Amino acid sequence: MKFAKIKNSEKKYEIGKLVCVGRNYAEHAQELGNEIPEFPLVFIKPSSAVIFDGEEIVIPKFSNEVHHEAELLLLIGKKIKNATIEESEEAVIAFGVGLDMTARDVQDQLKKKGHPWTISKCFDTSAVLSDFVSKENYNLIGNEVITLKVNGEIKQNSSIDKMIFNWKEIVKFISHEMTLEEGDIIFTGTPKGVGKVLKDDVIETEITNIGKITNKVKKES
Ligand code: MG
Repeated sequence: MKFAKIKNSEKKYEIGKLVCVGRNYAEHAQELGNEIPEFPLVFIKPSSAVIFDGEEIVIPKFSNEVHHEAELLLLIGKKIKNATIEESEEAVIAFGVGLDMTARDVQDQLKKKGHPWTISKCFDTSAVLSDFVSKENYNLIGNEVITLKVNGEIKQNSSIDKMIFNWKEIVKFISHEMTLEEGDIIFTGTPKGVGKVLKDDVIETEITNIGKITNKVKKES
């Protein structure tokens, strides 16, 4: 069992499903040659993929091209289904910083075959989470900046106001497709600048006023 922790609080939440949005920044969709979606593109990661700040990201044996995707995370605090925008906003109780690590070579092959992306997105250590900041302590303004550095060099740097679907719209949309429950975590998509990570790289991922995580990369032996 893994738990999402809330900063400056004893509270923690058993992690449920991780629901991820793809192609939520136009410039990122374009850099991978994808169309800009008409509605959120959704996929799932298992909680077994979760690691935290300071832990090692492991490139699996079956991939030679694992990419970093820095993302804003939403922690769901109550069960919702077919929610309104107001109910969606209320259901999010905390914000976090995350990495959606992706085996891009595997994903590209699966996409070509028309198969699900699962294998490229669900490997162990592919979901990196910070501790969460409760909404009582900080509510999003909308211009927070996501920054990702590899070995000190900035690779991703974008305001969250460049999202195609904002965080409330994402939660509302997902709640119409499946029940969201306490402990579920939403990955809201990555801005442009994704790229390959290598063994021994140090990845620093930060969102203004939310937090920062630092993770080293190793290769599965
Ligand atoms: Mg992503």
